[in-house]
Amino acid sequence: MNSATKASSALQGASGPGDPSESLRLGISSCLLGQEVRFDGGHKRDRFLTDTLGQYVSWVPVCPEVEIGLGTPRPTIRLEETSEGVRLVMPSTGDDLTGTMREYSVDRVRRLEKHGLAGYVLKKDSPSCGMERVKVRDRNDVPARTGVGVYAAELMRLAPDLPVEEEGRLNDPRLRENFITRIFAYQRWLDLVGAGPTRRSLMEYHAAHKYVLMSRNQAGMRRLGKLLGEATKDAPVNRLAEEYQTGMTAVMRRVPTRKGHTNVLRHMAGYVSDLMDSEDRAELTEAIGQYHAGLLPLIVPITLLRHYVRKFDVETLQNQVYLWPHPHEMMLLNHV
Ligand code: SF4
Repeated sequence: MNSATKASSALQGASGPGDPSESLRLGISSCLLGQEVRFDGGHKRDRFLTDTLGQYVSWVPVCPEVEIGLGTPRPTIRLEETSEGVRLVMPSTGDDLTGTMREYSVDRVRRLEKHGLAGYVLKKDSPSCGMERVKVRDRNDVPARTGVGVYAAELMRLAPDLPVEEEGRLNDPRLRENFITRIFAYQRWLDLVGAGPTRRSLMEYHAAHKYVLMSRNQAGMRRLGKLLGEATKDAPVNRLAEEYQTGMTAVMRRVPTRKGHTNVLRHMAGYVSDLMDSEDRAELTEAIGQYHAGLLPLIVPITLLRHYVRKFDVETLQNQVYLWPHPHEMMLLNHV
């Protein structure tokens, strides 16, 4: 499949059953896949990642501690507060591994670029891989959950727009749904950029993701639309794409609230309600109201909307990623 066809099919995938791009790849802390790379020779296999998400993505596993040569099993390492700031230290030897780990991380993240990752899943609590709230020991050996793993910090610094999550946070249905929506949206974006962005493809991307963005931040969605709509004809399209990507990342990071979803559902219902009979209209209104009140999961009003969009052939909503954000077999909308 050439890049142009790929970009187009990725956007179409959003309007159908949420088919993934054929090349969706995620980075991952190796131990989460069941690889025995932990300090004690064990692993931390995560069933959701290997058995469910693994059906839709290819993994690119990385174990920073093994890759800097610490071996398995190995003495534990940890983050310590020192006069030179937070350092990555091996207490049994006193070795300071901060410089080695940082240097390795910069090189490793650059080498990951060739994989075109659509996201990354990190192991929580690790002084190398933890994304947030990693224990940092002060001089009295008292821990505070204020740290970031050294590898994770470099990954997030060098790839600031990459969707990144920890496996622990993915146990929360809302965070899980948000992350998976983000990786599919980001893969469509990578396909678009890979095909060579045009003003038209940027506008199409924005139009298809309008309600996904709106559910997170309505003002942010409008700002992005304005950015594209007001760009002068001679503005370099690559610069425009970069600005759009930065703005889109900021919006997509926000986890949509029940209120945000309800706002989108009501907007969408406005396109179909005039076409429905009064009984069906009342049923849809009630489903949205019950979702808003926390009595129904999101999948119920979304399924009704999908039905009416298809039944009445509502062109404006047919390509909305919001209605088909990820493969429905994952059943993520049943739990939010
Ligand atoms: S958390 Fe990171 S460094 Fe530790 S074993 Fe897993 S992949 Fe390796």
